[in-house]
Amino acid sequence: MSRSVLLIDKEALFHNVRSLYQFSGKPIIAVVKSDAYGVGVKYIASLLESLREVEFLAVACVEEGIELRKLGVKKPILILGGVLKGEGKALVDYKLTPVISHREHLRAVEGLKVPLHLKFDTGMGRLGFLDEFVEDPRVEGLLTHLSSPADEEFSKRQIEVFKKILERYKGIKYVHLESSAGLIYRVPFATHIRVGLALYGEKPLPNYPIELKPVLTLRARLISVKNLPKGHPISYSRSYILERDTLVGVVAFGYADGLMKSLSNRGVLYYQGKPVKILGNITMDMTIVDLGGTQPKVGDWVDIVCQRQSFTDLAKLAGTIPYELMCNLSKRIKRRVL
Ligand SMILES: *Cc1c(COP(=O)(O)O)cnc(C)c1O
Repeated sequence: MSRSVLLIDKEALFHNVRSLYQFSGKPIIAVVKSDAYGVGVKYIASLLESLREVEFLAVACVEEGIELRKLGVKKPILILGGVLKGEGKALVDYKLTPVISHREHLRAVEGLKVPLHLKFDTGMGRLGFLDEFVEDPRVEGLLTHLSSPADEEFSKRQIEVFKKILERYKGIKYVHLESSAGLIYRVPFATHIRVGLALYGEKPLPNYPIELKPVLTLRARLISVKNLPKGHPISYSRSYILERDTLVGVVAFGYADGLMKSLSNRGVLYYQGKPVKILGNITMDMTIVDLGGTQPKVGDWVDIVCQRQSFTDLAKLAGTIPYELMCNLSKRIKRRVL
């Protein structure tokens, strides 16, 4: 009897994987870091594992890689965040492939029989070698990361810099740099795409050229419905005062569940397909909405993310990005694969 649920539409996820594969013509490195962007790696990993279009999974750190192996993942696993001293043995034990972006990462894999991917910093200013040549027979992959996929001029410059770096390497099996948004550049020398967000049907750019279906529905139950009179204050700090007699609902979902407090008095949720305004401050476990014009019952579901409102829409309203919203989805929310 959960009070909130994240529904995962398996067929929509499969559709999106195929769409991304068809558009790019490249197999997929599916990025499932941070518990599959908050969706729940336990549910997502086995779905991705079953698809031939997905060749690798990628996570941020060794611990997340071990978690994937324990979930039964057999495909190769990339560790995007490199490898620190003391983590080398786990790479061998769990067959994990580190992305090397620093000399210290190389030292952590000294003498170990593991494949390596080398990362270059072509303008992200985060991880990666600049222009040094790293020679190691274990290198099977080269990558970089685009910092501003919406900026065509800068992205093309990054792609050119990366291309120059590649010329110094021979016999590399995997070359990858296109994230969900970066895909639009259709980089001809890249062998794989490295995508996370778009898997869930969230479009990373306006006018995104790939047809995606929404995968996620997020809903929570009404735990109270009552009439309150005009002038009645709502929630902490009384930031909203009712302008008329109002049918007020309390939804069992608050900022602890991942609904940003900045959506207080701004956002809308959906009850039976109808927008219902958020009234007053969002609280830790509850959000108050105006249910005027509907006939709700305690126990009914209210949609937070649905066909009419994506994580991207909600993030825009909250002044953030869908990644942050999704990563904040609490473990209290039940996940269900449809
Ligand atoms: C998270 C991440 C990705 C995936 O980005 P999306 O925008 O979710 O597709 C790709 N590459 C690296 C290095 C990342 O950290």
